[in-house]
This record gives sequence, structure tokens and C-alpha cells, in this order.
Amino acid sequence: MGIPFIDLQAQRLRLGDRINQAIEKVLARGDFIQGQAVKDFERELGDFVGNPHVVSCANGTDALTLVAMAENLGPGDAVFVPAFTFVATAEAFLLLGITPFFVDILPDTYNMDPESLKQAIVEARAVGLRPKMVVAVDLFGQAADYPALGIIAQDNDLILLADAAQSLGGAIKSKRVGTLADYTTTSFFPAKPLGCYGDGGAVFAPDEEKAALVRSLAQHGKGSEKYDNVRIGLNSRLDSLQAAILSEKLKVFAEEMDMRQKVAASYTQALHNLVTTPYVKEGYVSAWAQYTLRLENREGLKGYLGQKGVPTAVYYPLPLNKQSGYCSNPVVSSGVAVSESSAQTVLSLPMHPYLEEGVQDVIIAHIQEFMG
Ligand SMILES: *Cc1c(COP(=O)(O)O)cnc(C)c1O
Repeated sequence: MGIPFIDLQAQRLRLGDRINQAIEKVLARGDFIQGQAVKDFERELGDFVGNPHVVSCANGTDALTLVAMAENLGPGDAVFVPAFTFVATAEAFLLLGITPFFVDILPDTYNMDPESLKQAIVEARAVGLRPKMVVAVDLFGQAADYPALGIIAQDNDLILLADAAQSLGGAIKSKRVGTLADYTTTSFFPAKPLGCYGDGGAVFAPDEEKAALVRSLAQHGKGSEKYDNVRIGLNSRLDSLQAAILSEKLKVFAEEMDMRQKVAASYTQALHNLVTTPYVKEGYVSAWAQYTLRLENREGLKGYLGQKGVPTAVYYPLPLNKQSGYCSNPVVSSGVAVSESSAQTVLSLPMHPYLEEGVQDVIIAHIQEFMG
């Protein structure tokens, strides 16, 4: 058997029995939609993150859409999105007729560049758009620079949203992801740091009132009477089965975060003299959704590792402003050169909490052979 890129089976071996029991419990109760398991998981996740205003939903893309709906954004409104991210970060807004305005990232963290954002806000106003929200992405697991982005958002009266699909479990100092912006959204897609066995997502809202609004929007815009729908919403719910699975995984999540730190530290120790290894800012804890190198000969190393049975991945080969469905949206006039060069030079290595030292040594040795 080859080396997996993300080894979900290793976790399954550890948690299998407990997860099977949790599933059995839901099957016995039969409360598949909005059952007890969903309520329990939301409370547990809120406790973990340090924000009680958790609303689970069907996936991380819907979570973004729900925030835009809760804030009443629509045509003529602009949201500021890094050009270097997964497509959902822009797609969710375009569906509502909102304009994603692409800004550049920083070369060291791959996260939104505050200077590029400032310029984009001015330019959006100049073309007649209404700037409404900053959508920062915590790429590869490290939180964006929320202290800096928060000041810009405040100065311009913008909402700050953290797309934390990759960073749940991360932190800035003692504040966990989920508490760093006005709203945070996340995904429980199986390969994310906290993944379920299908699709799932959540919104962390700023207060109880907004949480109730998001909850209503996720359930067809329901009011206090079940069949009095007071607004247009979505059908976007986390299944009870997925919530039960997530509750079991959450019990070992903090420990898995520590295991990820060790795996990342071993890569960095062995490789930092050969290639550009990930930079983690002082006081930041990455959730290490990905361990991503930067190097000129990306294709060479990718091909070499492939021959040796080591899987790698390129997140992302094209920035959003270069994708055919997205290239008609506005881009900051100073350009997104860092996003474009990152798309050509990044390479993600196998990364998960259960990566064994012996296997990691083999991966490292192949990289050393190629680079040496
Ligand atoms: C995975 C991901 C999403 C979307 O999550 P889904 O649950 O797959 O809808 C959004 N943004 C980023 C940055 C992601 O990595």
C-alpha cells in the first residue's frame, strides 16, 4: 500500500468502535434531522472554541452564504476575497449577486495582504460598489492577521468574516479560531482538520441574535411558529449522524492538534535549509490542514515524489482571478502577483496527525535526494 496524502483510516482504526456506537445511538433514536446529537455537538464545539453562538449547517460553502444572507448583502455590494483560495470563498457570494473583489496575499503566510485590502476598498467605492465585508481565509490552517484586518474593517465600517474551513483548532495566542472575527465559518468535509463522514459546516456568530437569524436562514427562514416562514432561507442542516461522528472526533481533536504540530515541526527541521517551509507567525498556532512548501522547481519535485510513491497536492494551481468562471470580477489595480506566483510554486506534502515517524523519514529522504 502506498503512502496516503491524508490518512483517514488511521483515525478510523483508533476511533472506530466509539464512532460506531455513536452512530448506533442515533439510529436507535431515529432523530435524524436536528436531533439531540446536533444540539450536543453545537454546544461542545462552542465550548471548545470559546464562542457559544454556533450554528451547524450542511457544508462550509453554505456557511459563507448564510453569513451574507444574515447581513442582507446583495447586488451592488462588494466583499473582499483573497485571489488565492478555494473557489467556494467567492462562489458563495456570487450566487447572491454580491461582487467578490479580489485582493492579494502575503508571500510568507499566504493570507490576505492588509495593504492590498486597503487599496481595494478605495477602488471598490470608486467604481460605485458598496464595500460591505472582508472575507479573510486562514489558508493551510494558519489564521489570517485578524488584528490588522480588524482595524481596517472597523475604519471602513465593514464586517469581518473568517473563512476558517482549514483552520479550526488553530489560534492566535489564547484566542481560538471561531473568536477572531465578527463571523467565522468552517467546514467538516472529511479532509479538513475536523472532518465528518460526509458534508458538514458551521457558522460562529457574533451574538445570540445573529445566531438565531443564521439558524432561521438555515431552516427555510422559519419563524417561531413552525410553518410561518418569515424570510427566504436555505435547507442547510448538519445531519444528526454527522454530528454524532463529530462529537466523538472532537474528544481527541486537541490531542490531534498537538500531533499535527509535531509532524509539522519534523518536516520543518529537516527541510528548512533546502526549500521554503511554512512560516508561522509569532503567537499563532496553525491547524496544519496542509503542510505546504514553496519552490521554483515545483513540478520537478512533484514528479520525483510521485515516482517514489509519495503523493503531493497543489492547492491551488490557479488563482480565482484566472479561472474562467471568475475572471470577470474586479481585481485590485496593484494586481495579485503573489497569488499568481504562489499558484506556480506551492506543493503540499502528506499531512495528518497519524503520520508515523518512519513514513515521514522516507518522505523527507526523497525530498533531500531530489534537492541535494
Ligand atoms: C473546503 C473549503 C470551503 C468549503 O467547504 P465545503 O464544506 O466543502 O463546502 C470553503 N473555503 C475554504 C478555504 C475551504 O478550504
